[in-house]
Amino acid sequence: MQRFENRVALVTGAGSGIGQAAARRLAAEGAAVFCADLDLAAARATAEEIGDGAVAHACDVSVEAEAEACVAACVEQLGGLYALVHMAGILRFERFEDTSAESWSQVIRVNLDGTFFMNRAAIPHLKASGGSIVNAASTAGLAGLHWGTAYAASKGAVLALTRSIAVEYAKQGVRANCVCPGDIQTPMTKAPAMPDMPSREQLTRISSLDGPKGPEVVAGVIAMLASDDGRHITGEDVRVDGGTLS
Ligand code: NAP
Repeated sequence: MQRFENRVALVTGAGSGIGQAAARRLAAEGAAVFCADLDLAAARATAEEIGDGAVAHACDVSVEAEAEACVAACVEQLGGLYALVHMAGILRFERFEDTSAESWSQVIRVNLDGTFFMNRAAIPHLKASGGSIVNAASTAGLAGLHWGTAYAASKGAVLALTRSIAVEYAKQGVRANCVCPGDIQTPMTKAPAMPDMPSREQLTRISSLDGPKGPEVVAGVIAMLASDDGRHITGEDVRVDGGTLS
């Protein structure tokens, strides 16, 4: 399937996990992919593996000027923007009462402010191309996450932000959706630092019923949402969690 032939996709968090899998998938379906990540070497590795004119770019999405420069560089170097796949994010586990203002702000800055900056910078180009946004929310934005108050709050806000963009821009031909992954095996979830050993109940609550899966299962859903197959889907959040919240 070549659903992204002659189309440009900008993927943040492209150096790792779900962003990397999305970059691979979109490229396999014909997209020219702009691979952005905090870690330039990781973004380069993804772009080099993909080939086909993929470009690597270093960007801290939580810095307004860097997010804007990232979108501008994509448009300048690849000639436009059809899909913004915004996967950059951070997860931190800590007890709520031990969460410092600084730690809270860092999670909100990267996960929420970063989404705001990247989405806002992309909108004028998506209006021109009739393209769309796919943001990374989380099952944690739909249900509580033990030791993850800042993370869950940031992802709940990403859901609200995305829905609001969807209704504001629907008549202008721009769609915006979220994926809500759960129990996906990536560096983020491999061995996160936790305040204590999670209990059996806590693990059951965040575990998928069909076993943990790799990031490619989310990449397939992202590609559907960003493609013409998703043309009547906007303001939606799609859980990719193997039934965790069912
Ligand atoms: P990952 O493997 O850690 O990948 C996240 C990528 O984002 C990393 O390459 C990271 O770079 C980059 N990044 C972090 N902060 C950034 C910043 N300020 N600017 C630009 N890039 C930044 O995690 P993942 O599991 O693929 O997660 C992708 C998205 O899905 C995240 O938004 C996450 O919250 C969400 N999600 C994941 C799961 C899951 O089960 N894996 C579940 C729900 C939601 P560095 O490595 O250099 O920090």
